[in-house]
Amino acid sequence: MNLILLGPPGAGKGTQAKRLEEALGLLQISTGDMLRAEVKAATPVGLEARAIMERGDLVPDGMITAMLASRVSQPDAAKGFILDGFPRTVPQAEALDAMLAEKGIPLDHVIELNVDDAALVDRIAGRFTCASCGAGYHDSFKQPRVAGVCDSCGGTELTRRADDKAETVAARLAAYHRQTSPLLPFYGAQGKLSAVDGMADMDVVFAALSKVIKP
Ligand code: ADP
Ligand code: AMP
Repeated sequence: MNLILLGPPGAGKGTQAKRLEEALGLLQISTGDMLRAEVKAATPVGLEARAIMERGDLVPDGMITAMLASRVSQPDAAKGFILDGFPRTVPQAEALDAMLAEKGIPLDHVIELNVDDAALVDRIAGRFTCASCGAGYHDSFKQPRVAGVCDSCGGTELTRRADDKAETVAARLAAYHRQTSPLLPFYGAQGKLSAVDGMADMDVVFAALSKVIKP
């Protein structure tokens, strides 16, 4: 089973990808997480991507497509994957189609998470993450059980993303509407697109996604 979760920044793609990963044994592939790791390690890709990400723009298609191609070729992707944050442009989606066709890998579902822009701003502003295991939290919607301690791994370094500032969020939402939303008709024409109400409670969203995947 190979899926794409499509939706604007803050829609809940990472939150739901982690749940699906646990429930279905699939691999979450987050291109945003991969880029943040490159930035942290100060690799050539990270050095090029850093300023682009801080502005809220998209990194070049060639860079991200090469990164994705090498990730889906690794053995752990053979159990099935959830793409979170890729593709984000029509050229990326075309490259993905070509890559999967060449490797004989099917794409089973593309699921859009629908969330209003106003709710996205609140979600992004309140987001924080465990630096050790990547578990996601929110000031209003999902606090850890013990303040300052990750529920999943007990880590105590809870961090906020450099690009989750109010100034950058507007640019990221604009990039979604301009460059990523054309993927909805692209996958609609392939008959692979479903939509789920991402405004609902996290458990309700998860149930709706599960129903699309296993009706
Ligand atoms: P994305 O990966 O699409 O950018 P995230 O999964 O990181 O989005 O979610 C953004 C923030 O919103 C996180 O802090 C997360 O805890 C919170 N969140 C995710 N889904 C919901 C939901 N259904 N209701 C309320 N808050 C949510
Ligand atoms: P995300 O964690 O998915 O919100 O991504 C964070 C940032 O990484 C984005 O704002 C982009 O700058 C960059 N990025 C992640 N995935 C892609 C992609 N598929 N194409 C271009 N840029 C990306």
